Amino acid sequence: MQIDQYAVIGNPIQFSKSPIIHSTFALATNQSLHYDKIQAPIDGFVTVAQQFRAKGGLGLNVTAPFKLDAFAWCNEHSDQARLAGAVNAIKFEGEKIVGENFDGLGLVKDTLFNLKQTIASRRVLLLGAGGATRGALLPLISQKPSLLMIANRDVGKAQSLITQFQTLATDLQVELVACSYAQLAQQGPFDLVYNATSASLFAEAPAPDVPINAFNPNGMAYDLAYGKGLTPFLQKARSAGVTQLADGVGMLVEQAALAFAWWRSVQPETKPVIELIRVRLD
Ligand code: NDP
Repeated sequence: MQIDQYAVIGNPIQFSKSPIIHSTFALATNQSLHYDKIQAPIDGFVTVAQQFRAKGGLGLNVTAPFKLDAFAWCNEHSDQARLAGAVNAIKFEGEKIVGENFDGLGLVKDTLFNLKQTIASRRVLLLGAGGATRGALLPLISQKPSLLMIANRDVGKAQSLITQFQTLATDLQVELVACSYAQLAQQGPFDLVYNATSASLFAEAPAPDVPINAFNPNGMAYDLAYGKGLTPFLQKARSAGVTQLADGVGMLVEQAALAFAWWRSVQPETKPVIELIRVRLD
């Protein structure tokens, strides 16, 4: 009998930590499965995903740059995936190709349970208005911060996210606002500052242009990116006096755990896996 097959698809994919994360979850929960990584050509997501499904694959994780392609390919979507307009986990159920998006929920779980921060009634700043921000908005707003501000270089992009999520925010009494980096100087400090820009992915790139007074030294700065050492954003937060600094490893492992539980109906423990991945960072 063939072992249950799962995989992550992306491009590039060679540095993906998903196979080690899911294999560790499987070992810890006595699940018999194989989890692979697959690189698809930039214009070839659907072909590669279809081949995987045709061979009996049961589920996929999807990473950059294919989350929008995956959304378009799925014929059913969770509310979270629909609102994000992007899919990072897929389950095959007969004719159904079900799309989920666990990125934002993973971020919120990491914030609440691993980093022990509350989001409710706090002032939250999100930097960036790309896919990660889009995925984070529903779970973050659902935590009812007093203010959720989105700053982006292209303010129009942040503004269109505000328009999309405004009704939900109003219902939950969350003030939801878009602004430019220049306007941030008059807005701080924020208790939680999340860097959801892709600036940290480029070693030579400076931190996003967030003013020092946006940081609250008693709050937390969180970079969704991860790697060895502090990113330029986290260095900036530290020089503003912030002591609680976090990177995106916890988010990565938490979203993986949510996908694993969705596929296998077993909840894996995340803390040991976060530690395992942290020591393996490149
Ligand atoms: P996108 O490409 O969709 O969006 C990138 C955003 O970053 C845009 O808003 C862009 O602004 C902004 N940006 C890029 N460079 C700069 C800069 N130098 N200064 C200020 N803003 C900048 O990326 P994603 O949303 O998919 O990913 C964002 C980050 O989140 C990445 O680091 C990614 O690795 C991380 N991530 C982490 C996950 C995890 O599990 N830990 C999961 C998903 C994402 P503009 O619109 O003005 O161009």
